[in-house]
Amino acid sequence: MSPNILSKAIRIATVATVLGFTASQAFAAAPMAGISAPGYYRFMLGHFEVTALSDGTVDLPVDQLLHEPAGKTVAALHAAFEKAPLQVSDNAYLVNTGKRLVLVDTGAGDLFGPTLGKLIGNLKASGYQPGQVDDIFLTHMHPDHVGGLVENHVIQFPNAVVHADRLEAAYWLSRKNLDSAPDATKAFFQGAMASLDPYVRTGRFRPFDGRVELVPGVSSYPSFGHTAGHTSYMIESEGKTLLLMGDLIHVSAVQFAHPNVTIAFDADPGEAAASRIKVFNQAAKEGTLVAGAHLPFPGLGHLRATGTAYQWVPVDYSRMPAQKPKPH
Ligand SMILES: [Zn+2]
Repeated sequence: MSPNILSKAIRIATVATVLGFTASQAFAAAPMAGISAPGYYRFMLGHFEVTALSDGTVDLPVDQLLHEPAGKTVAALHAAFEKAPLQVSDNAYLVNTGKRLVLVDTGAGDLFGPTLGKLIGNLKASGYQPGQVDDIFLTHMHPDHVGGLVENHVIQFPNAVVHADRLEAAYWLSRKNLDSAPDATKAFFQGAMASLDPYVRTGRFRPFDGRVELVPGVSSYPSFGHTAGHTSYMIESEGKTLLLMGDLIHVSAVQFAHPNVTIAFDADPGEAAASRIKVFNQAAKEGTLVAGAHLPFPGLGHLRATGTAYQWVPVDYSRMPAQKPKPH
């Protein structure tokens, strides 16, 4: 055997060994990793950087909660390849205007069970620290939006000022309202008070009235009904707009097609439906990008109006623009 033929034979044998080794390894299953990626999604809105933050999901018996026959809800869920209980997202939004770091809603903290309360972890994973947040704007004071303000009574955003509509604060932070509330809803008042009180006591809660520009590029947009002072927020930069609409919708499989259907959490169902339809109409007409706290994460998309119904068009995934290299 010539040296050439010998070396070729050795190469073939080596390749066969490697292939054999690889093939036998393929029969050994890798242990499943089990956890998903951190829940954040980032994009630019004009000059503003927006980060959708997931607080997690919670299973809700929406067939029992929506104000329509349960069979109708189940059929609508089925048509959308979903089922009851529905796994509902809880989203918050972080906006870096370049001058201020603004957080809209704070997730549930420990007020709503172990599948929620992921906001702080996801905020950190996204590259920010809670201490960097300058302003927190609350859509309303239900536990899945204010619970993240504190953990074990300790303030989680040590440098932030918290804001909400004055009507919302007056309702949920009233001792009188807590005392006269039915037992079933007392926990909502207690959750709001426990979350807000540490900020109120240290002079870092500042309510606002109605529709105002709160910081440059961030304005309140009253959309009452879900609660007494439920507020959406309009974010604007370089002619681009994003409307953070909080709890104007909970169940996409039902309420886009039938925006008159309300939910047990709505304090004033009639006003809640009217606010939903008003905001949906305007967003559809103007092509505004909207975000829903309980739409499937990241909860971002556009609305298309067809008669009295709406169609949800979720945003496509997009990359961040290339960063300019830092000067040396
Ligand atoms: Zn909510």
